[in-house]
This record gives sequence, C-alpha cells and structure tokens, in this order.
Amino acid sequence: MNYVLVLNCGSSSLKFAVVNAVDGDQPLSGMAECLGTADASINFKANGQKTQQSLEAGGHTAALSALVAFLQTQEALAQNIIAVGHRVVHGGEYFRDSLILDDNAIERIRECSVLAPLHNPAHLLGIEAAQAAFPALPQVAVFDTAFHQQMPDYAYLYPLPYEHYKELGVRRYGFHGTSYRYVTGETARLMNRPANELKLIIAHLGNGASVAAIRNGHSVDTTMGMTPLEGVVHGTRSGSIDPAIIAYLAHRLNKNVDEVDAILWKESGLLGLSGMSNDCRTIEETAQNGNERAILTLEIYSYRLAKAVGELMIPLGGLDALVFTGGIGENSTLIRERTLSWLGFLGLKIDSTANDAAIRGKAGKITQGEQAAAWVVPTNEELMIARDSAELAKAEVKS
Ligand code: ADP
Repeated sequence: MNYVLVLNCGSSSLKFAVVNAVDGDQPLSGMAECLGTADASINFKANGQKTQQSLEAGGHTAALSALVAFLQTQEALAQNIIAVGHRVVHGGEYFRDSLILDDNAIERIRECSVLAPLHNPAHLLGIEAAQAAFPALPQVAVFDTAFHQQMPDYAYLYPLPYEHYKELGVRRYGFHGTSYRYVTGETARLMNRPANELKLIIAHLGNGASVAAIRNGHSVDTTMGMTPLEGVVHGTRSGSIDPAIIAYLAHRLNKNVDEVDAILWKESGLLGLSGMSNDCRTIEETAQNGNERAILTLEIYSYRLAKAVGELMIPLGGLDALVFTGGIGENSTLIRERTLSWLGFLGLKIDSTANDAAIRGKAGKITQGEQAAAWVVPTNEELMIARDSAELAKAEVKS
C-alpha cells in the first residue's frame, strides 16, 4: 500500500504518474494535453505500453474521468493507491510544508493565484476534479515555494517600499523547492554525511533554472524571486536584468508593460540569446559546428551561473558541495565544465572522466580532490511528492 497518484496540472495539460513512494517505481504515467480544445487527448504508459485516446474537447474533469476508467482496468494497482499528491507552484507565505487539503487550504491556494496566475488556477481545477474522481483518498498539496519559507527576511525582502511587501506580498519566494529538498537528501546520502551538517549550493537547471544555498538542510537563499523569472538564464526567460530595461523597451518599441513582460518570459534566455532554440542540446550542437552566437549563449549561461554560485557562498560562509540537477544539470557536460572553469578558486577542479560519466540519470562526483566538490545528482520531484503524500496519508489513518 505505497502508491500515490501524483498530479501536475497546467492550464491546458495534466501530467500524472502512479508512484511507489518507497522506491520511486512508476507503474503508470502519462499526460493529458490540449485540454479544453478540440485536440484534447490523453496518453497512458503502463507495463511498457503506450495508448492514447481523444478526450473530445474535454477539460481537467474529462482527463481525470479517463484516468479513473483506465485505473479500473488495473485493479491491483488502483487498490493500492493511498493518496493523490498535487504539485502546487505557489503557496505564498501560508505554507511551509506539504499538507492534506481542506477547504481552508484550498482557499489560501486560491488567494495565492495573484502571485502565480498561470499556475495556481490550473492546480485548483485539478484539485477539484481529483476530489470528485477520488472521493475516498486524501488529497495532498506539495508546494514549490514551501522549502524556501524559512529564508531570513534580509534574504527575501527587496529594496522597495516596505508597504509593497506588507500589502501586496512583493518579496522573494523562491521555487523548485520540492526538487531542492529531494536533491539535498540524495546528496547527503551520496556524500555519506548528515544533511544538517552540509553547506550545499544546488543548481536546478531545466527549462526554468534556479540556484539555492542550503545550509544544514534548510534553504537560506535562492535566485528565483517573487516569480520564477528572476535569477540565472532560463530556456525562454531572461533571468535578472536591469529593471529599467522594461520601461526603456516599452518606450522604444511602443509596447505596453504586458507586451514587454511577455518578451522577458517567452522570448529571452537561451532562445533570445541564441536566436534559434530554448533547448540547450540544440544550442550545444550548433556551437560544436562553430556558430558564434551559440558559443556566446553557452558562455553567458555558464558565466551567470558561476556568478550566482559565488553570490550564494555568502549566506553559506563556505561550501561542501556544488550540485547540478535538472535536464541541463544532469546531462550537459559542457555547461558543467564551463561553469566550473570559473570556480577553480574555490578548489573545484573538474575530473573530465567523471564529468563525462555522470549523464542520463547517473549520479557522481565530478571534481578532483577532497575539499569542496561538485556533484551531479538527478532530481525526482514525483518521488518527493509521493513520499510526502504517503507519509501524511498514513499519519492521518493513525490519528
Ligand atoms: P523542465 O524544466 O521542463 O522540467 P528539464 O529539467 O527536462 O526541463 O530540462 C530541459 C532542458 O534540459 C532542455 O534545455 C534540454 O535541452 C536540456 N537537456 C536534456 N538533455 C540534454 C543533454 N544531453 N545535453 C544538454 N542539454 C540537455
């Protein structure tokens, strides 16, 4: 009895997986896409086989009904699901931990929609549909922001008028918290040291990218801010820029604030710099053929990442390990090598053989020497959500 149905709802998509909370095995996974449009469909991957069906213009409710129907064909599995775990992007200042959802918590997630207008309303659609589809199961929320809620005030406040924090919630929240929590535990296990004695900098580098300083198992600062736009270079997002650029572009391009905002979210980062793709692999391939824009793009990405690492050394006052995770962190030997080339002064010296070996889900230490080290540690947000959900569901049964 250790399976959890993990749901990640976007505005027009729903990713799902039935996850064994002990070993991370996923006997069933899949995704519903184009929800609410004529092309709405859902695919299932179970026992090595993929199937797809149309949802006939249905939304999240139709997707979950199709999932319930599919689970009815997998009786042994369905009977062993003990909770539904929802990934929720923004928990504001309300949530420091995962929790079993009740009306009050749902209301607070709704309130946080102003801070994550693309994500939280979609999560609420998924929660509502899942409550209807699985009325007997506890529904658990796991927040991307929760792990960073213990950051000190001097780290999370921006130098803006203080009332904008008090009245409008303008502050750093940080994201990727579920990934950081998982990777912190895994890194401690691999280093054979307790997490509460470690100074870690973790770089989660996916389409969205962020870096966090983890001291004694707690996040003390991170590069993403009030939104997941701030910080290092992302796939299509700019990361940190001079904020005056926004007004400058609005005037020069005769665009309104929302139009300039869209440039920062959708047309910048790896895509904007390279002019070809938001996909790091494509840019690396093009760089290998001598394309100068692609080479420069990767250099900017690595330089800004190394600068973020340097900055996050301040709250740690030292470093036991720099950890790479996420699609780019786990697979790009080049980005790791270029980033570490800036950090030799910390005693980080790359071991090229180990760097080449740590790809496609393989963890490993990728530097020489015994002092500060760099590691590759694959993340597993689904497993973290499953673990939290199973733990809370079991505690509820006991109480
Ligand atoms: P998301 O944030 O959407 O979960 P991922 O963590 O899957 O994204 O990361 C996607 C990124 O990982 C893409 O930029 C992709 O190019 C990059 N990536 C995946 N494999 C490789 C590879 N072998 N070399 C370089 N980059 C890679």
